[in-house]
Parts: sequence; structure tokens; C-alpha cells
Amino acid sequence: MTAQIIDGNAIARATRAQWKDRAEILARRGVTPGLAVVLVGDNPASRVYVRGKIKACAETGLYSELHEFPGDVPQATVFARIQALAADPKIHGILVQLPLPPYFDGNAVLEAVPVDKDVDGFHLYNLGGLVVGHTLFPPCTPAGVMRMLDYLQLPIEGQNAVIVGRSNIVGKPMALMLLARSATVSVCTSRTRDLTQYTRLADILVVATGKAGLVTGPMVKEGAAVIDVGINRLPDGKLVGDVDFASVRERAGWITPVPGGVGPMTITMLLANTVQAAERYADSKRR
Ligand code: NDP
Repeated sequence: MTAQIIDGNAIARATRAQWKDRAEILARRGVTPGLAVVLVGDNPASRVYVRGKIKACAETGLYSELHEFPGDVPQATVFARIQALAADPKIHGILVQLPLPPYFDGNAVLEAVPVDKDVDGFHLYNLGGLVVGHTLFPPCTPAGVMRMLDYLQLPIEGQNAVIVGRSNIVGKPMALMLLARSATVSVCTSRTRDLTQYTRLADILVVATGKAGLVTGPMVKEGAAVIDVGINRLPDGKLVGDVDFASVRERAGWITPVPGGVGPMTITMLLANTVQAAERYADSKRR
């Protein structure tokens, strides 16, 4: 079997068109959705991601601002800026680009973003809300994966879903979202004994480890939907995922490429969350 390639760029384009329409309707009501991006330090990958987010805002009719700080900025300075953005009516979403420098208390910074502007979905309320099936903003990467599965109308209920990786921003929320849709979910970590025993069970396999080529063809069930979240730069500069694309493609039913798979969906869900934040703001002004 040769897998069908899941074109993240095409699904992102179709999804963004809907959000662009909603942003236009909102603009006619006098509210242009606004995103503030806070970037600390000069991590080259972070710069590329931030540039992509700002460009996507412009293309979708959103206003955006970049707030840059040097890598040795006092934490209090960044907190003060987040507080100012929290009070700024032009700004409906605040995103703090990760990773932050090691001396930062990352959790405290993410908690400083008010829940109703937390368009990355990293605030405790938004992450914790997934446990009970209620959240203002779902974290963008797993929400983007769900959108992809739904766009392709791939079955979720009753399917075996296996997630490799348990980070707070990808693996754990992904597990909760699939569980909420009645998949049977297993989560694997670096301590899992015999990873293949789990991955071979998966109808839906989501891999988010940051380990290039971790999942290979023999580890995958024939016909599975394989979603590769990983982004790894090889020494020769090539960008690859956590899945060995060539061998897995021969067994899977569906597979996301890297680049051009999950990445564009993550940005799309950020736009969606920002437009919804602005809609909520506009509604609150009308009351
Ligand atoms: P983290 O480093 O926070 O988490 C990695 C997870 O993978 C950990 O839970 C770790 O287990 C697990 N892991 C590591 N090695 C193995 C292994 N050999 N077998 C099983 N599990 C393993 O990463 P993130 O979740 O933040 O990101 C994962 C990848 O996704 C990265 O490449 C990142 O760049 C990419 N990413 C892509 C996005 C996109 O938009 N496409 C968005 C966000 C991330 P343990 O907990 O035991 O250490």
C-alpha cells in the first residue's frame, strides 16, 4: 500500500479562507482581530516561526505586532509588556514564542497571558479545560491535527489512537482531544518498553518527539493515518519529521509530509483562535 499524502498546505488554505471571511465580517463591525507576538532572544527557528505567523496574519486580514526582547532581558520587563498588551483593546490574542531563555519561569510567563487572550492555548485554564471538555482556546498544534482528520473525514470514534510524546503543548492535549472523540488512546514516552508494540496497533498514529526518523515502516499498521508533528533540521540543512517518510509511506493509508503537513495547520489554528477572541471581544462590547 502507498499512503495518500495529507496536504497540510491545501487544508490550511481552505480553512484559512473561512477565517478570513469571519475576520472581514468582524472588521465591518469595527473590530480588526489583533495578535501580539512576544519573542525573547534570537533563536533562529523561533524567528522563522514568528515570521510565518506574522505573514499569515497579514494574508488573513488580521493586525499583528511583534514585541522583541534581547536574550538577557529581565523577566519583569517581559511581564510588564504582557500586562500592557492584556489591557490593549487592539490586541485580542497574545502569543509568547517558546522556548524562552532558561532563566525564565516559563509557566509564570504563560500564566501572565489572560485566558481570554491566550490564543496559543497554553494557559493552565485552557490546557486543564481539555480534561473536562471545555476550553476557550485549544492548543494550536493538536487542534490543527484534529482539523486535518475531520477535513479528510477520517474516522476517530472507536479507533486505536497512539501518540508518541507527552509534552504539555502537543502530546497530552492531543490525547485528550482524541479521547473526547471516543478514540481508544495510548500515550508513549521515552520510557515506553517496546514502542513498536503500541505503534503497530494504531489506526491513528501521532508522532511528536523531536527525534528524526524515530518511526519506521515496520512499526506502522497497514493503512494507518500517520501524523508527523516533528520538525528536525539535519546537519545538511534538510527539514525532516519524526517519521521515516519513505518507509512509512509504503505501509500507511495516510501520511503528513514535513514540511507541508502539521506546520501550516498550527498557524491556521492560531489565526482561528485569534479571530474567535476578537469575536468574543466584539460581542462583549455590544452587550
Ligand atoms: P518535547 O521535547 O517537549 O517532548 C518530546 C516528547 O517525546 C517527550 O514526551 C519524550 O518523552 C518523547 N520522546 C522522546 N524520545 C522518544 C522515544 N525515543 N520514544 C518515545 N517517546 C520519545 O517536544 P514537543 O512536543 O514540544 O515537540 C515535539 C516535536 O514536534 C519537535 O520536533 C517540535 O519541533 C515539533 N513541533 C512541531 C509543531 C508544528 O507546528 N509542526 C508544533 C510544536 C512542536 P519523555 O517525556 O519521556 O521525555
